[in-house]
Amino acid sequence: MNEALRDAYNKTFDCVQCGYCLPACPTYETMERETHSPRGRINLVKMVAQGKATVEDLQEPIEKCLGCMACMTVCPTNVQYDQILESAKSVIESEQTPSTLQQKAEGFLFESFFPSSRWMNFLGNATWLYQKSGLRKVAHQFGLTQRAPLHIGKMEAILPEMPSPKQRQERVTRYMRQRPAKAKVAFFKGCIMDSVFFEANQNAVELLLRSGAEVAFPDQQTCCGALHAHSGKVDVSLELAKRNIEVFEEEGFDYIVNTAGGCGARLVEYRHLFDKDSPWYDRAVRFSEKVYDIAALLVELDGLTFTKPLQKTITYQPSCHLRNVQKVVDQPLELIRKIPGIRLKELKRPDFCCGSAGIYNMVHHKESMEILDVKMKDVCDAEPEEIVTSNPGCQLQMKLGIQREGRGDRMESVHLVDLLIEADPQSK
Ligand code: SF4
Ligand code: SF4
Repeated sequence: MNEALRDAYNKTFDCVQCGYCLPACPTYETMERETHSPRGRINLVKMVAQGKATVEDLQEPIEKCLGCMACMTVCPTNVQYDQILESAKSVIESEQTPSTLQQKAEGFLFESFFPSSRWMNFLGNATWLYQKSGLRKVAHQFGLTQRAPLHIGKMEAILPEMPSPKQRQERVTRYMRQRPAKAKVAFFKGCIMDSVFFEANQNAVELLLRSGAEVAFPDQQTCCGALHAHSGKVDVSLELAKRNIEVFEEEGFDYIVNTAGGCGARLVEYRHLFDKDSPWYDRAVRFSEKVYDIAALLVELDGLTFTKPLQKTITYQPSCHLRNVQKVVDQPLELIRKIPGIRLKELKRPDFCCGSAGIYNMVHHKESMEILDVKMKDVCDAEPEEIVTSNPGCQLQMKLGIQREGRGDRMESVHLVDLLIEADPQSK
């Protein structure tokens, strides 16, 4: 038995088969199969380790898991499902024999593309050029986007307008204060977050400055490694974690802030990636303790008051990774409630995943849309003008949901920081 499988197998014995996790699991609800529930997946891992099932039997149920971790929040015996899932993915990955072309493509994507700010800037700038030149029009005219693989056409249609290369180039990466700062904050910018939602990151900086903090973007930071871990590429993910730990410990920051629920969850998990006898363990724990989601940090700094009334109805869709892994539940709502005039209508099932889950909505599009439709029923019952969220994937998925419901003329999805900036925050 390989090491990853043994790790997962040992943890499966914490599961007492009670089934409390079943109603919390979106894939169990929409796919209606025991193998696609947390309990079923845990049992499959156990059976593979005992030689009663094959890795092939495990593959589909594991790949169809969203990794939303809603199951962990209701489990009475604290089964470490996140670690079972990660080990299971690594076992599946190790059994696969991809073609040379696939290996090369994956090697480029996971080892060169995502970890590189240069490539991320290139992606952002190329998308800007595509949007601003006549290219988008031509692509739509000839139906090229609809023929692109992995439902890229649907994703392209919901992308926000990109900032220009000049705006990116001119970004200030260090904001100091003349008066003593309340806190020294390092900004973890994220890959997709910073290339697609650059403006939201800039808004987050503004909120921090007005809260009395000083902010810096450490230069050598890299991808959090979430996508790698979710794809079973544990070794690359570990290397990225080490690099971030090194980069962010250089200047003795008080906090490491992020604006993407998924990335933040990975950063918080760095502390679980190393054995206690590893020289990286203490450093990883110190790193993870400093990681804060933007809403949690704004509440902690308590430096803002909102002056502009916003007369609109909104609902809040929490990112699963923000809620279930980072355990940031009340802070976004606390901030929203401080905005004068706003009408907050809460969802009946805020803990139900939207189906975005990294690239799940591209690789398992049909299943993702079935989950999204459940979410949108809840959203539409609340009839908000805006769906507020804190993760780029959720924000785009909500936009897709709005389109599917034909409500694009009266509903929008926004990042929490964009809403807060609109309410004209002032320093207390
Ligand atoms: S709630 Fe926990 S113990 Fe119960 S079946 Fe689910 S994973 Fe197992
Ligand atoms: S992580 Fe989410 S989708 Fe996966 S088993 Fe748990 S609740 Fe279900």
